[in-house]
Amino acid sequence: MEPYLITAKNTPRLMDFDASDTSHFEGGKKDGLAELAKLNKKLESLQEILYAEHQHRVLIVLQAMDTGGKDGVIRSVFEGVNPQGVRVASFKVPSTEEMDHDYLWRIHRQVPGKGEIVIFNRSHYEDVLVVRVHKLVPAKVWKKRYRHICEFERMLADEGVTILKFFLHISPEEQKERLLDRITDPAKQWKFNPGDLSERNHWKEYMHAYEDVLQKTSKPWAPWYAIPADRNWYRNLMVAQILVNELEKLRMRYPQPVEGIEQYASQLDPNAQSAQA
Ligand code: ADP
Repeated sequence: MEPYLITAKNTPRLMDFDASDTSHFEGGKKDGLAELAKLNKKLESLQEILYAEHQHRVLIVLQAMDTGGKDGVIRSVFEGVNPQGVRVASFKVPSTEEMDHDYLWRIHRQVPGKGEIVIFNRSHYEDVLVVRVHKLVPAKVWKKRYRHICEFERMLADEGVTILKFFLHISPEEQKERLLDRITDPAKQWKFNPGDLSERNHWKEYMHAYEDVLQKTSKPWAPWYAIPADRNWYRNLMVAQILVNELEKLRMRYPQPVEGIEQYASQLDPNAQSAQA
């Protein structure tokens, strides 16, 4: 899935980036869904080993414009995964207590512990996205944050956290369709927030802010992937594929069993034991 990996040299211009691309999978939607089901199974067993081994920590960051599919990825990619070892942390407008601290305070408390996968639904990147676009702090404040973020993530990586960051990229046309759906479909109306319309008016500024994020903070220890997200099935498939590839690279193993484990089988039956004695 290297094509969607961002490096400092290949940051895409998002206005030219085809959000409906499906070119890295040969089949169509039907085959894509079948492939995703296979990846779900793989992810399920990888997560089981991660949990049992209790060594690695995995942090997945999801960022997108409204309706970009963060919730869809969480639902579809992690289908079947044991909820015991996976946690979702959602970052909304900071509370008063959170505002009283530095912007990474609320983030750091949510990073994964050993054996855990944590999915960030929005993240510290909001502090150089919405905060920048809406001028919530002066430029000289948010501009320093790219450096903080790289150093923070470097520290996490040095301490054994595997970090994978996904920008789910939808087109403004697709967002219009999805918002319309939220307005007209009674089952989706609860998701509609009139605030999403005003965010939409800042599309270009958001794209510039995202380009800076991708360019300045995609590092070998915490890479960004920009995923075309107009087609849900393709978006889910690409994210699942990257996760499986990266988790397989960790070469995780179940912990060694206690010594002479076989002998314990005979102790399961108390009658057999007393007969022996
Ligand atoms: P979501 O859109 O993720 O499903 P919400 O509709 O509750 O969830 O939106 C969360 C809102 O919180 C978004 O508008 C987002 O920009 C905002 N937000 C998140 N982090 C910050 C932050 N650090 N400062 C200001 N606003 C933030």
